[in-house]
Amino acid sequence: MAKTKRILLHLVCSVCKSRNYTTEKNPDSAAAKGKVGEGKDKLLLKKFCKWCRKVTEHKELKI
Ligand SMILES: [Zn+2]
Repeated sequence: MAKTKRILLHLVCSVCKSRNYTTEKNPDSAAAKGKVGEGKDKLLLKKFCKWCRKVTEHKELKI
């Protein structure tokens, strides 16, 4: 069984909607976390947006 399956995600600036970053999520660890609060396990990261020229919240978006 292939256990290295990963989900690719964009990190989208919540202000200007630019896809500034690409990240990977491991479905195994995501499922383990999902036991607590499944459904609203949305990644929300503070990242620097070069378009806004400041740190903004970036949301995950499936590719
Ligand atoms: Zn932005």
